[in-house]
Amino acid sequence: MDELIQRRFNNMFNSAVEGLWMMTPDGQVSFYNQSFYEQFDLHSQTTLDQWTQLIHPDDRKPFCNNVNTHIQAVGDDTRVITQYRVKKKDGTYIWIEATGINQVDDSGEYMVGNHRDITEQKKLEDSIWQLAYFDKLTGLPNRDKLALDLSKRSSNVTVMTFHVSGIKSYVSQYSEFILTDFIANLLECFNMFNRYESQCYRTSLDTFSVLIGDGLSDDVLAKLAREFIQQFKSITRNNISYFGDVYIGIYVCCNRQASSDEIINSTYQTCEYAVEKSKLNWVIYNDQVKPEVSKYFYIENHIKQAIENDEITIHLQPIVDAATGHLKSFEALARWETEQFGFIRPDEFIPVAETLGLISQLGKKVFAKSADFIVQYNQKWNSNLKVHVNISALQLLKDTFPQKLLEIANDKKGRPENLVLELTESVLIDNNQQVLEGLRVLTELGFPLAMDDFGSGYSSITSIFKMPFSILKVDKDLANQSIIEQEAFEYLQFLSILCENKQMEMTIEGIETHEMAEMFAPIKASSYQGYLIAKPLPVEVAMQIDGCGYPYFKKLNKSNA
Ligand code: C2E
Ligand code: CA
Ligand code: CA
Repeated sequence: MDELIQRRFNNMFNSAVEGLWMMTPDGQVSFYNQSFYEQFDLHSQTTLDQWTQLIHPDDRKPFCNNVNTHIQAVGDDTRVITQYRVKKKDGTYIWIEATGINQVDDSGEYMVGNHRDITEQKKLEDSIWQLAYFDKLTGLPNRDKLALDLSKRSSNVTVMTFHVSGIKSYVSQYSEFILTDFIANLLECFNMFNRYESQCYRTSLDTFSVLIGDGLSDDVLAKLAREFIQQFKSITRNNISYFGDVYIGIYVCCNRQASSDEIINSTYQTCEYAVEKSKLNWVIYNDQVKPEVSKYFYIENHIKQAIENDEITIHLQPIVDAATGHLKSFEALARWETEQFGFIRPDEFIPVAETLGLISQLGKKVFAKSADFIVQYNQKWNSNLKVHVNISALQLLKDTFPQKLLEIANDKKGRPENLVLELTESVLIDNNQQVLEGLRVLTELGFPLAMDDFGSGYSSITSIFKMPFSILKVDKDLANQSIIEQEAFEYLQFLSILCENKQMEMTIEGIETHEMAEMFAPIKASSYQGYLIAKPLPVEVAMQIDGCGYPYFKKLNKSNA
């Protein structure tokens, strides 16, 4: 080649920002532009081995594999691109993207290519990656990273999701510093999973997940959950300003086809189910729990629609006079029949309606149906019976509630004195003035009030008698207890005397057998309710009961005689 052209080429190479190289099959390497390569501890003529020595140890193996495969692919002139870190003279590393291509000419085979500094690009990618997949406060990977890692799983996995309650209010009440301190303590609890191949994630403000690369047994998982809760309690004990709890949902996934979202949903739902339902604070999503969890979420997702579509009906359970067996009243109990789960019990859907703020809407509908029933019943039988309707304490928090009930009663042509409102002792907790005022107004409007489930909680007898209740309903558990325990029986006897003195009616719930009814005869309760007398009945069936003829509950009458 002409000497001038050769010199110009050399100048061009030397001024290029990228590195240019050539390598012979025996590993001799020539670098063509000094300005690029002078940052490394190298000569312009070197060997592949010397270059490899400068490569970051973590990247060395993939680099060698790549080069070997490429060298062997003689005749294949595709570009091969590799990215790796190379040590500079000052000991720091830069990211290099190397492109290589096989060449053959009269002199034989060789490889040429270039080296490009991609450190800035890598930093940007890193910070984007960091932002996309890591939580700022804890530095832990986030929910998206969990989804990504799950999508790459090659074995059965266990995902444990931890909901730490109270963090939200903690954040709003205290400084970030206190939160950081608390989180640091919390993260230490997760160290117990280091005994497995595992990773901890912060999947939302107050939710953490641990991914374990193995499908652990229920026994092991139960032990882990208990151990974690114990450790958590020990940190909260030392943290007087924190009033929260931890709930754990555990899901073992053995199905390789399950998507990341399906797995995450299962552990999240199990965790939420643990928050709402578990006394132990942890739940393993196994064959036993699965239908319960799906039912719980079915309720949560469908209750609003069910209320709006009038799918919630009532059944009516007769309440009879304890002495004569005559029918006195009915208790209206909400019922929800679904295609998927059959009848869903009210104690399953009422708390969900309360949490979702739907209880007022539901309560009004049940009240209207009950009023409708008793008006028609009394018309049909020319009787004057009452219907009892269960009222949630939350309904009383709306100050328009008493007036609204009166409007519904008037609309159905029902008289308030025939519409008994049953309230549990939760209305008395906290001495909420709005609730107490609501009770007063309801009594003033003429609605009789019944204290429901008495004896199941911890309200004192004295507080009950100070309130405007005219009926006291003894809880079925207390009734059951009193047939096996003398003290409980004596307590009931004492309660009945108090009720008589205060001119309150006493109803005993949960009468299931003749023996029970006979045992309670000396107690002189006003009325009985229970499966022995009748189960809650559909409206059409209850409507057929003769309300004013012979004693509805004859057997009881006979035993009293
Ligand atoms: P509750 O008010 O104590 O109602 C009595 C519950 O005991 C009913 O359960 C009834 O079916 C059941 N029961 C009746 N007799 C017996 C018996 O002899 N033995 C036993 N073991 N159980 C008996 P249900 O219908 O499942 O209702 C459960 C709870 O759900 C009710 O307890 C009440 O607190 C709540 N609830 C029902 N309907 C409504 C409603 O419309 N509004 C509100 N807020 N709560 C409701
Ligand atoms: Ca009740
Ligand atoms: Ca009750």
